[in-house]
Amino acid sequence: MKKFDIVVIGSGLGGSACALVLSKLGYRVALIERGSHPRFAIGESATPVTSKKIRHLGEIYDIPEFDRFSTYDKIKESKLDIHCGPKELFHYYIHEKGQKSVSLDGEIPEFIVQTPEVDAQYFRSDSDEYMVKIAQEYGVIYLENTSVENIDFSSENVLISCDQQGESLDIDAQFVIDGTGFRSIIGEKFDLKVQGDDLNIPLKSRSIFSHFKNVGDFEEKLNEDDNFVDRSPAPRARATQHHCFDGGWVWVIPFENGVTSVGLNLDIDKYPMNDIDAEEEFWSVIEQYPIIMDLLRHSDNVRPFVKTGRMQYYNSEMVGDRWAMLPASAYGLDAWFSTGLASSFIAIHRLADILHERVFPGNRFTRDNLLDYELAMKKEYLHVSKMIHGMYKSFKHYDVFKHYCSLCFMGAESFLANGGAKKGMDLSSLLLNAGDQGFVDKFGTIYDKVMEWESREEVIDSEIAMLNLYIREDMEPYNYREFGDPKMFGMHPKVSVC
Ligand SMILES: Cc1cc2nc3c(=O)[nH]c(=O)nc-3n(C[C@H](O)[C@H](O)[C@H](O)COP(=O)(O)OP(=O)(O)OC[C@H]3O[C@@H](n4cnc5c(N)ncnc54)[C@H](O)[C@@H]3O)c2cc1C
Repeated sequence: MKKFDIVVIGSGLGGSACALVLSKLGYRVALIERGSHPRFAIGESATPVTSKKIRHLGEIYDIPEFDRFSTYDKIKESKLDIHCGPKELFHYYIHEKGQKSVSLDGEIPEFIVQTPEVDAQYFRSDSDEYMVKIAQEYGVIYLENTSVENIDFSSENVLISCDQQGESLDIDAQFVIDGTGFRSIIGEKFDLKVQGDDLNIPLKSRSIFSHFKNVGDFEEKLNEDDNFVDRSPAPRARATQHHCFDGGWVWVIPFENGVTSVGLNLDIDKYPMNDIDAEEEFWSVIEQYPIIMDLLRHSDNVRPFVKTGRMQYYNSEMVGDRWAMLPASAYGLDAWFSTGLASSFIAIHRLADILHERVFPGNRFTRDNLLDYELAMKKEYLHVSKMIHGMYKSFKHYDVFKHYCSLCFMGAESFLANGGAKKGMDLSSLLLNAGDQGFVDKFGTIYDKVMEWESREEVIDSEIAMLNLYIREDMEPYNYREFGDPKMFGMHPKVSVC
């Protein structure tokens, strides 16, 4: 029987990076993958939080490869042989059904926030393969085409029974990390997974996505409009574009190899689940929005469409005696804000700290020693899901959207300004500032307003003026970018907050 200190199941970016860090800390680590690389994965867009966290992990654990992987510019400088794309902007545009002209009453309903560095759009088949390779260079034993058949926690150590292409393989480990993403192998085993109507959050969304060739350039469309004045701090082709409409939004993520990732995300309250074929439903929604349709008119999908059910799930327990889940196994939310990869890298730091400082030194493998880690993920799950829920409900009114969205950026930027990306197991530094009760309460006030306004056809000028005042005055300690200042025209060039 093979013996390891730690076994990580699942070799996505999260699982591989986690295995790598633990191996660097001196543990004997195995990484088990049921498939093989390269393979398609979703979760392509990084954020300033993701980039900073990856870089910081490189610094504290002395893994220079993390630094080289942390942004688009670093990937290019280091000449890494992986496809990616530059992300210099978060770009948002609000569409109305049937709208053909990009300006409405002379106004272009855009909102743009520039990132401090050029973050990466990760082409996951390449980036995940790269991370597995680096993990192996740091001593991780990688077992691919190996499916876990059973995990037995009944004896002193953990016994993992696998099937490796028809051969059985037994592994003994002191600790197991579930990095299997939404499949949550340990959640399934212990029946911990909560999904569907049993969930305790109002966010209900689903997604239909694929990779395309020949997607049009939104800037060309804007340039055709007489009312368009280009104030964007960078080209929109270097953005993650968010094309929002009442009831959903579309991401557009261009890579440099000519492939563009496009995903349609739908509010289940407005677009209930159904059995319609993925491709058919995708186009039936897109064609109601002529400007988005124009972008995709000459495109061809280069992969089959994927249609999800409700994307939200969580596990009632995320740690246990001799095991822990990475965030994508512990819970799932939505693609909005691209929090998935950031939460994975943040959690790797927390988990590595706890295992190295508390669990392994004293042989304290019980659940109670890991509860801080679970609590942090649960708080983040509730806070981020509420923020995203408010986003879906704000798409109907551009002015509400713009202000509410800036509030969410304040969450991310105050996390960075407070040094959140550098902290490990510190409950004061949770994703999107979930650990700052003052911020959470203030954000809650506006969330409640968004819920109230969602059912209305109009939000009157005095209400928008009140919202604007709130953003500029009450939120002032969190506002690093003059959000709410009409002189900015909804365009916010980069600032360095930490
Ligand atoms: C529609 C959608 C869009 C998203 N967009 C973004 C985004 O833009 N930015 C962002 O940051 N996040 C995004 N996310 C979240 C992101 O996908 C995840 O956070 C991220 O992929 C997590 O990586 P991971 O390595 O933990 O898991 P995964 O990437 O899911 O990898 C899990 C791995 O485990 C393997 N595995 C599964 N079961 C077993 C088993 N039994 N035995 C062995 N191996 C197994 C799988 O083959 C896979 O390789 C999105 C999520 C969704 C659903």
